[in-house]
Amino acid sequence: MFSYADVRAAVPTVTRHLPPTPMWSYPVLNAAVGATVHVKHENTQPVGAFKARGALNLLASTPGRGMVTYSTGNHAQSMAWAGHLFDTPCTIVMPEGANPAKVAAVRAWGATVVLTGARLADAEAHATELAAKTGHRLVSPGDTPELLAGVGTLYEEILTARPGLEAIVVPVGSGTGAAAAAIVAEALAPRCEVIAVQSAASPAAHDSWRSGTPCVRPNETRVEGLATGRGYDLPQQILRKHLTDFVLVSDDRIAEAQRLLATTAHTLAEGAGAAALAALLEFPDRFAGREVAVVCSGGNASPAELERLGQGAGR
Ligand SMILES: *Cc1c(COP(=O)(O)O)cnc(C)c1O
Repeated sequence: MFSYADVRAAVPTVTRHLPPTPMWSYPVLNAAVGATVHVKHENTQPVGAFKARGALNLLASTPGRGMVTYSTGNHAQSMAWAGHLFDTPCTIVMPEGANPAKVAAVRAWGATVVLTGARLADAEAHATELAAKTGHRLVSPGDTPELLAGVGTLYEEILTARPGLEAIVVPVGSGTGAAAAAIVAEALAPRCEVIAVQSAASPAAHDSWRSGTPCVRPNETRVEGLATGRGYDLPQQILRKHLTDFVLVSDDRIAEAQRLLATTAHTLAEGAGAAALAALLEFPDRFAGREVAVVCSGGNASPAELERLGQGAGR
């Protein structure tokens, strides 16, 4: 299914194309949080998010074979970028109302964009049809082992640099990142806690983990990278066995964390990229005095999001 050996196998592929991202600690941020915080800057990836690692590993394993996938955001950009790198045709099905800036970025990498339906479920259905018609591989953003293996290299970097970490906090949408983190931590630093965080306005992965069965939930967060309405089987199976804990934060707390990253860590995070720090702000006692890594998973804040942050709304 998926094991630490798959992550190890992905390391040379990923490092051939992507340098390790920086991980820094900022005294002013540490003082504000009351813990030693290491910020892993995945917002510095060429597509502005950690998902580049997964797409790279997937496309490297089957270059040339056409891919069809569905997404509203960073998965789409990552697949388009990796498709460009390996000269592999990628078709990305997106909902009709998808963020035009993200649609433009996907097209700019040379992928074919198909806009259909109102929801991601409509895009998924259409992508499934297209794959059947064209013989291209249908890529699930959550249930594809090659994506988890590529994403796992992020946690290999964190724990190789800081083997004494006491906890890693990981933002969750479909759960690929958290599942990979849990597998790598178990292999490299079994005493390091892996704590997943999702928006309380879109708690499908959290509720799936708590209840032990993938379930469907309202999907109302304004935080794009965390906006999924269902639990995905593969990451959920792994999380059930290996995850330390799963917490929820509000969208307003996430906005507060975005502002804190901007002012203390010189970092533009999209909402999902600030969710890990938001968990530290929400549960200060749990992290007080400890050494913790937070994954700044992405920096693709939309223009409307930047305006909201600037106005200090949603506090
Ligand atoms: C996709 C995404 C997440 C969530 O990752 P999953 O692997 O889907 O759980 C978090 N942050 C950003 C920026 C993302 O693009």
